[in-house]
Amino acid sequence: MSTPDPAWYSHELCFWHDPGPGSGYVPVGPGIEPLRQFAVDPDLRRAEGLVRASGVMDRFTAVTPTPASDEDLRLVHTPEHIERVEAASAIGAGDAGVYAHVNYHSAQAARLAAGACVQATTDVLDGRFHRAYCLVRPPGHHAEPDRAMALCLYNNVAIAARAAQRHGVRRVLILDWDVHHGNGIQRVFYEDPDVLYISIHQDGLFPAASGLVMETGAGAGAGSTLNVPLPAGSGHEAYLAVVSRVVEPAARAFGPGLILVAAGVDAGGHDPMGRMMCTSRTLHAMTSMMCRLAGELTGGRIVFAHEGGYSAWYQPTLVLSTASAIAGLPAPYDPFLHSLEHLPGQRLQRHQNRVIEHLEAHHPLLTEQSAPVRPGARSGR
Ligand SMILES: [Zn+2]
Repeated sequence: MSTPDPAWYSHELCFWHDPGPGSGYVPVGPGIEPLRQFAVDPDLRRAEGLVRASGVMDRFTAVTPTPASDEDLRLVHTPEHIERVEAASAIGAGDAGVYAHVNYHSAQAARLAAGACVQATTDVLDGRFHRAYCLVRPPGHHAEPDRAMALCLYNNVAIAARAAQRHGVRRVLILDWDVHHGNGIQRVFYEDPDVLYISIHQDGLFPAASGLVMETGAGAGAGSTLNVPLPAGSGHEAYLAVVSRVVEPAARAFGPGLILVAAGVDAGGHDPMGRMMCTSRTLHAMTSMMCRLAGELTGGRIVFAHEGGYSAWYQPTLVLSTASAIAGLPAPYDPFLHSLEHLPGQRLQRHQNRVIEHLEAHHPLLTEQSAPVRPGARSGR
């Protein structure tokens, strides 16, 4: 594959989902003046607008997704959970779980977000496109099988991984570089040996006490969860070191037939929710590395799905940078780069390196590097 053949999945109704008035991520209540919550979607529409205005969208085939069916959603979620989301949305307000507020359009937006990821995955598996990007809302990686959580209603990427298996792929690698830990994805696959979940997140941010290095899977899934909780303040070099020293060797040992990336941009240096320092160059480099890894391991098959991203001004540039890498283009102009790239903490710090060294020494997928790949690995297709 010389020229990437990427597709772009988004739907206008995803931008109509709105968790309602609040301040930051907290809904209006005692001590909370009405402002607007994060993850409202004029910001995401602006991101898509920048990709279009830059000409990068011209490299993608635009696909309008169809909503996920009940059958798709039940690959991960309980019927009661789906009913709760639909009921809260039908009323037009309220919490469908824990900090997962909805409006009238949310249930349909959530079905379209999950549906986009399922469709992108099956289109890539069918060879219609090599790569795909899903600009979806609401996000998904905190949603658990039986409850919505932290803006996430349905677990878009987890549903896509199950849909890939339904489509005949045995092993799926999910990389999640959203600044928060994807507790929902981890929970779905914690005992599943055929889905490797790798999360790079800010240590201790959210959910509390979730995503620790010692959480490595259980039962048959022992070794198929890999958490990289980086200290607050990690930046460009720390993230690239994790991808080259942890993600790539673990992926090679695992042998996936498909790669899914929960590609939040809230590890960006201007994000109000996280305390990391990634730049558009970091996102471009990580995306390019994962596309190359897909070329090596999965015949190029890789799907990216948007998750968190809360800086009104920097999110569009980070989405553009991710999209540019998927399209095989150089990193785009970043008018905000100068404020981040020369910060001293952009170099790999010793205390950040210790997390990587710990994983290199202890995680089953990394300590087995000198041995042949695990039984069944490399048969992921
Ligand atoms: Zn996040």
